[in-house]
Amino acid sequence: MYSRTQNENGTYNTRCLFCFMTIASSVESDGELGRQETRHICPERALAELLELEKAIDSRTRETTAA
Ligand SMILES: [Zn+2]
Repeated sequence: MYSRTQNENGTYNTRCLFCFMTIASSVESDGELGRQETRHICPERALAELLELEKAIDSRTRETTAA
């Protein structure tokens, strides 16, 4: 999830909506924006996914214990 904004000179900035870090600024093309976004390794998103995974494992473990 990224928030793209356009500058007055027509270039773009893109910001990650998970960690609110500006990934790229003054980018001239849409393709380059996409490339920069793909390269962003988001610590917040990784953490969120990890928590989801743990929750899933946790609920599975609980089901097994109950049965
Ligand atoms: Zn991020």
